[in-house]
Amino acid sequence: MARVISVCNQKGGVGKSTSATNICAYLAAMGKYVLLVDLDSQANATLGLGINMNPDHPNIYHSLIIDQNPETIIRKTSIFGFDILPASQSLAGATVELVTMDERETRLKKVLNSIRTNYDYILIDCPPSLGLLTVNALAASEHVIIPVQTEYFALEGLSQLLNTINLVRQGLNPDLQVLGVLLTMYDKRNQLSRQVLNEVHKSFPGRVFNSVIPRLVSLAEAPSFGKTILQFDPGSRAARAYRQLAEEIIRLTS
Ligand code: ATP
Ligand code: MG
Repeated sequence: MARVISVCNQKGGVGKSTSATNICAYLAAMGKYVLLVDLDSQANATLGLGINMNPDHPNIYHSLIIDQNPETIIRKTSIFGFDILPASQSLAGATVELVTMDERETRLKKVLNSIRTNYDYILIDCPPSLGLLTVNALAASEHVIIPVQTEYFALEGLSQLLNTINLVRQGLNPDLQVLGVLLTMYDKRNQLSRQVLNEVHKSFPGRVFNSVIPRLVSLAEAPSFGKTILQFDPGSRAARAYRQLAEEIIRLTS
């Protein structure tokens, strides 16, 4: 039975898609059966894995909104065979359509329940908002990973996210836990980065992953080649950090 983990922060550009994708690659490389769910209409994770979608191709939208069997939508990546439930622009409409639907907060949970036994890990790449798609992700998950970019204002908005997590826990999903806060785009030469790291540790004592993701241009370049850091620059510090993170995740969830 898969562990379901949301990668979530309503702030844009903090490293959600990069982290979700690379964590999946390393979990798969360690022999785990892995599914990445792209829940963002920007489809960054889907496109970054070299999967071409036009808006009419079946994607997560079709499972969420018109009950299409997810097994007919899932694609296999070339990266240790991990699977992806892709997104496309058409998902943008789902936020509006969900509003008037029955059980609108738990539709993703239902979709994933039907395939949960096929995987060890299911990661959900959330969109940069706290809207209904993110609520669906949280309602379907046991764990949340919160990527935080090591920059000024890093902690801004996190109380709102934690509040949403609490509301979901109270109403829809009592099992939901924060697995950890993940520092991304860390620059050890930058004093501000070090300050932010200390501040995040103070705000989330014992809840910050030991692995810290450095700022590295190959991480930004890899998706344009349809690759993860594991194929693109496997000897880099960033590759090492994502491998250690995958090990931490396995340890914390077993
Ligand atoms: P959105 O909120 O739009 O979905 P996101 O939180 O998913 O964004 P990403 O798309 O993963 O964030 O990252 C934002 C940008 O920063 C991308 O161009 C990505 O390639 C780049 N990036 C992410 N992590 C790193 C890193 N550690 N070093 C350098 N660049 C990075
Ligand atoms: Mg993203």
